[in-house]
Amino acid sequence: MQEPKRLITASMLYNHLACPHRVAMDAFGDWRLRDAVSPFVEMLWARGSKYEADVIAAVGQPYLDLSALKGDEKEAATRAAIARGETLIYNGRLSGDGLLGEPDLLRREGDGYVAIDIKSGAGEESAGEEDEGKLKVHYGVQVALYTELLTQLGVAAGRYGYIWDVHGEEVRYDLDAPLGKRDPSDTLWARYRAARYEVAQILERQARSTPAAATVCKQCVWRSACLAQVKATDDLTLLPELGRSKRDILAPELPTVHALAAADVGGYIKGTKTAFPGIGADTLRRLQARAQLMLRPGATPYFRDPVDLPPVGLELFFDIETDPLRDLCYLHGFVVRQNGDAATEKFVAFFAEAETVAAERDAFAAAWDFMRQHPGAVIVYYSKYEPTVYRKLAEKYPEVCSRNEVEALFEPPRSFDLYFDAVKRSEWPTMDYSVKTLAKFCGFHWRDTDPSGASSIQWFDEWVNTRDPAIRQRILDYNEDDCVAMRVVLDRMRGMGVGA
Ligand code: SF4
Repeated sequence: MQEPKRLITASMLYNHLACPHRVAMDAFGDWRLRDAVSPFVEMLWARGSKYEADVIAAVGQPYLDLSALKGDEKEAATRAAIARGETLIYNGRLSGDGLLGEPDLLRREGDGYVAIDIKSGAGEESAGEEDEGKLKVHYGVQVALYTELLTQLGVAAGRYGYIWDVHGEEVRYDLDAPLGKRDPSDTLWARYRAARYEVAQILERQARSTPAAATVCKQCVWRSACLAQVKATDDLTLLPELGRSKRDILAPELPTVHALAAADVGGYIKGTKTAFPGIGADTLRRLQARAQLMLRPGATPYFRDPVDLPPVGLELFFDIETDPLRDLCYLHGFVVRQNGDAATEKFVAFFAEAETVAAERDAFAAAWDFMRQHPGAVIVYYSKYEPTVYRKLAEKYPEVCSRNEVEALFEPPRSFDLYFDAVKRSEWPTMDYSVKTLAKFCGFHWRDTDPSGASSIQWFDEWVNTRDPAIRQRILDYNEDDCVAMRVVLDRMRGMGVGA
């Protein structure tokens, strides 16, 4: 029997950009193998729905509400409303030419209509990201799908739409504008057409996708099923910092971790280049060493070259917790240790006692004061997130400190980035180089059964709604353990040698 044709939806495009395997799993995967939806994702859904309801309740102009209708009835009502020239249509539905779209709003502009999606996130890439201030491609492809449906109906006002974002801004998505300076043909419309084609190929079983171990998997319902497959196939993405794109380049010649470990990689190398586009000779050698380390029984980590670790004196292991949806930094935690002596270790935390700007400012000011009171201490943090958020906080609260002071704080020898200054220069027989994975490798255990940044955000949301002190304590304990984890990894590194 022929399979019914599946329509391409906006959420399929969104998922496809996050992971090219997701659409295939949703369409053809064995649903008995799905994991439960994580509480974090459930919270995102609930907050998204609530935000949309709040925005619609405050829209301040008459609109036609089609949210009670379903399927064909909803679509017929949407088409009739467009034909009548309704000014604003909420929760309509359009389909055609293999596409199905349910834009939050359709608004009449001039002689036509534009689509508007309400998002509980920022309308543009946020500060600190590589693409800061640019339109979000995963929002853009959804707006493009709605615009194509309006075009098919002959009522599109133009090739653009809007995002109503969490800051109350209306962000225009011009689908034909180049995304960057380098390539004028690289537009949201072009990205949409490419994503639409790829999704159609997957749904028609014309293209095959394979899972890859990636950060995005953490919040995916297929994580256990995909990880089992990745392990069973000895997939290259089991290696740290070897992602889907490198895997796809290497796989035709070196399809597995065992194959890479055993290969004569010299045969692929010419000078500083290799037979694999975008992968240099040093990278290929490093990846092979990583594969060999991974397969060695009882393997231990090592530095690739000598690394100067910070002196053992007064150390502040520093970690923050933020809620990107509220654009709020709600916790600054420090584990303080003197002269490497575990008995001196204590946890000091500055918690925003409300989800308000004033509370965020107070916690930031207190944490800043605390660091200033310890001018001789070295501040140990993991990766660029803390400096990035502190720059933002300094701009938001210039009365606390200046941007230059933040830059000075995160400069060595005052601070030490454990990830960039040490872990990135070492090799570990682990699947990734997150502080959680490395600390667990060193034998450290978090007290919480579900420790993650995403969980912390979800607990904070729970605490905002309940003010339950047990939840507040759970967040603090988690943050303390994250700080201790850095100490555990640093201590292990102090005894580590150079070379395998
Ligand atoms: S678990 Fe990972 S690889 Fe599998 S579908 Fe989800 S995001 Fe993709």
